[in-house]
Formats: sequence, structure tokens, C-alpha cells
Amino acid sequence: MSVLIQHGLVMDPETGECQVRDLYLADGKVQKKPEVLGEDVQRVDATDLWVVPGLIDLHVHLRDPGLTHKETIETGSKAAAAGGFTTICAMPNTKPVTDCAEVVRYVVKASQEAPYTHVLPLGAITTGQNGAVLTDQRRSMEEGICALSEDGKSVADADLMEQAMVRAKKLGLIILDHCEDPELAAQGKSREAENVMTAREIELAEKTGAALHICHVSTKESAQLVREARQKGLPVTAEVCPHHFTLDDTRLESGDSNYKMNPPLRGKDDVQAMKEALKDGTITCIATDHAPHAAYEKGPMETAANGIIGLETAVSLAITELVETGILTPMQLIACMSTNPAHVLHCGKGTLQEGTAADVTLIDPKKRYTVDVNRFYSKSKNCPYQGMELTGRVVMTIVDGKIVYHKGEILND
Ligand SMILES: [Zn+2]
Ligand SMILES: [Zn+2]
Repeated sequence: MSVLIQHGLVMDPETGECQVRDLYLADGKVQKKPEVLGEDVQRVDATDLWVVPGLIDLHVHLRDPGLTHKETIETGSKAAAAGGFTTICAMPNTKPVTDCAEVVRYVVKASQEAPYTHVLPLGAITTGQNGAVLTDQRRSMEEGICALSEDGKSVADADLMEQAMVRAKKLGLIILDHCEDPELAAQGKSREAENVMTAREIELAEKTGAALHICHVSTKESAQLVREARQKGLPVTAEVCPHHFTLDDTRLESGDSNYKMNPPLRGKDDVQAMKEALKDGTITCIATDHAPHAAYEKGPMETAANGIIGLETAVSLAITELVETGILTPMQLIACMSTNPAHVLHCGKGTLQEGTAADVTLIDPKKRYTVDVNRFYSKSKNCPYQGMELTGRVVMTIVDGKIVYHKGEILND
């Protein structure tokens, strides 16, 4: 089967290409358009659309195994496709924790049965996320983890974290790091908790030489720590979530627990600092931290679970808040949502060069629409953007040369 995407604006941050042309996909790969097209070629009119390498989300909670009343690998994969993501990384704080070969194997198998996006499992740093015993990184890697993470918390013991980094470096595994000092967090000092742990982790990365990716940066101080680390040439990258560059903590006054997440919404100057960090290349990735919860788990602010869903609004929020305002160029945005995350994972994606996997996203950058959670594919609806008018929308998602999503519909074969 082959697909010919016609007259779209093809953007490839890897090569710097940005021009209107056709893109030809066959046998699951980007290929040179043949002189004579076959009879079965599927034509897609992409006039006025961006044609970009499939988006990659480094930070997704699929809740499967064990917490499938919130999300499953299948519903999360469909939500990803609807959001333009062709690869997502599944955080290991599942039940049981993704900390051994058996659970990794389960995630890999369930993902293969839900071919709407590529799901790459992450492996926990410690067994059961207990902070005491390191997992067998090599075994988990053999089963298919793409990286390590203890997301939801930090490994409190600095010596143990250092050992984890030493092993990870030997295996070439990157650590996606949730930075939160548990003691400071318990005292309600969330800002200090993020800053102190970010500093510790960067120091350990410098000492061990391990590659470190800082998850959901939310304070101006931690953005500055990442900036200084990168200026020193350390192998440190970072991501920011759409909610941390679109919303500030004044939203919490509404009492709506859909504004509750961890790290929490910060001040206006932090939101501004996130935009500056994206603009100057300190933060090179946008990740959603998609964190589905059932309605009854959100409830009143004090007792509500942390987290919001993010897969189906990320592109629109980023275009509205970053591109329409001139903070990022369209190419820079696509780099943050595809090419740069691909570099973090060393997965060879994030580009439309001939011979690469035909993971492609089509985006209408001018489409205005109103967010309606009832049309989302995610099993959960904990989204603070309900009813908001946004600009820019995913039109089509193609995975391995197959159209999996088109204008609101998930396409089964
Ligand atoms: Zn986290
Ligand atoms: Zn997370």
C-alpha cells in the first residue's frame, strides 16, 4: 500500500527543509515518488496543511497494567493518534510497576495489539519504585524499554541514584527524571523540592557522565539550572508540559481540581520563563505528562489526584500559545514535538528523509475550534481546557505508512 500526500508544506527540522511538495509513502517508509504511480495509491490533499514527522511524546501515563479504569494501552494509543503522536513513551508507575521483563513484555505485546501509535515502555529505576533496590536495567532493555524513569517521584537516596546512572551510562540508557525532593515536598515546599532535586540530578549526571532528561520543568530556577548545565556541555535535556506554558497558579482560585497536577501550576513569571527557555533552546522538548484519572478521583481540590490528560490538546495549545504569538517558528515547534524528542531517544525518527519510517502528522495551523472533551478518545476527561477556543488542529496521523486517524475518526483496517 502507498500514500501520496500532495501539495502540503513539508517541514523537516532534521534537514531544515520547509517547502511545498508531495510526500510519498510506501511499504511503511518514506520513499522517492516513482515516475509512474501504482493503481492502488491513496491520494491525500494536504493543501494549506503542515506535513511533519510524526509527533513524539516522551511522557505519557497509560495506566496499563492495573489502573485501566483511568486509561488502557488501547484507549491511550487512540488518544495519541488523535493528538498527532506516532510514538509515545509509557511511564512505568503502573500496577504492578513496570520494573521487570514480564511487565515490559506485557506492555510491548498490548501495544502491538493497538497499532494506532508506537508505544515505547519506560522501565522503573528501582523495584516497585520503592527507592531501595535497583532494577535489572539490562533485562528490561532486552525486552524493549526505551529509557528509565521513576516518574511520580525521585529516587531519594543519592548514592543509589548515582549507581543507577553509572549502570545506565554503560548501557546507553537515558534517564527521564521527575525531580522532587521528598522531604521538601512533604513540607509543602513544592518549588524548593523541584529546584533542589534538579540541582542534585544535574550534579550526579556531571559526575557519572550519564545522559539525563529533566521531566516537566516548571520553575524559573530549574530552567536556569538546565540552561547552565547545557552551557557547560553536559548531556542534559529537558521538557516542558503545555499546562506549564499556558496556565498559571491564579487558576487554582477557581477550585476546579482539573488545575491540580504535579509539579503544580506556578506563577506568571515561571510561565514566562518556560516560554523563554523554549525560545532560547534551553528546553528542547514539549511533553504532555498525560495523566488520566476517573472523574471520582479528581473530586474536591484537597483530595483530588494530581494530573491532567494532555495528548489531544498539546498541538493546539502549542500552536496557539507559542507559534501564533511568535515565540517559536513552526519549524522550532515541530523540532520540540518530534525531532528533539527523537534525539533524546536515539530512535531514528523525527525526520521525513527517504528510508525512514513513514510516521507522519498533518496539521491545519489555522483551524480554530472549541475543545470538547466528550469527543476525546482518552478514557478519562480530566482536562482544564474544556470549552476553550484554540488555533491549530491535527488533521491526519499516519503510522508506518497507514492512516490511523483522519478528521476526528480513528480508522481501523
Ligand atoms: Zn512526574
Ligand atoms: Zn508524569
